[in-house]
Amino acid sequence: MDHSEIEERIFEFFDGELDAAASVEIGRHLDACGPCRQRLERWLRVSRFLRAPAPRAGPDFAAAVMSRLPRESPAAALRGRLSRAIMVPVYAFAAAALFLALVPRPESQPSTDALLLSDEEAEWAAGSNEPSAEELIGLSLEAP
Ligand SMILES: [Zn+2]
Repeated sequence: MDHSEIEERIFEFFDGELDAAASVEIGRHLDACGPCRQRLERWLRVSRFLRAPAPRAGPDFAAAVMSRLPRESPAAALRGRLSRAIMVPVYAFAAAALFLALVPRPESQPSTDALLLSDEEAEWAAGSNEPSAEELIGLSLEAP
């Protein structure tokens, strides 16, 4: 077997799948060939990693994670979100009030109140021009 053949069969060698003669041949090649030895070492590392038990979280893991989170409690976060939600309409109302206060109103047009009052005054004035009951009676008495 040459270097490239052995390179491809190192996994079989590593796994013990080769017969004794092939294993001896590859063993001798490994003694002399650095790249093939490195390839075998990589297989060993991968194998150790795959066979090792999965890392488990220690008893303090959850506490350590929680201690790194921001200090704000969920209730405080909710309060912050609620106050921001409430402040949006407040700001909108303040902006509308400011707009109405700053925009000049037209002075030439009379307001609805002024129009209604002037109508009432006109009715009242018209009513005062009507003759009173005494005047009507007097007129009727004086009439021939
Ligand atoms: Zn080699």
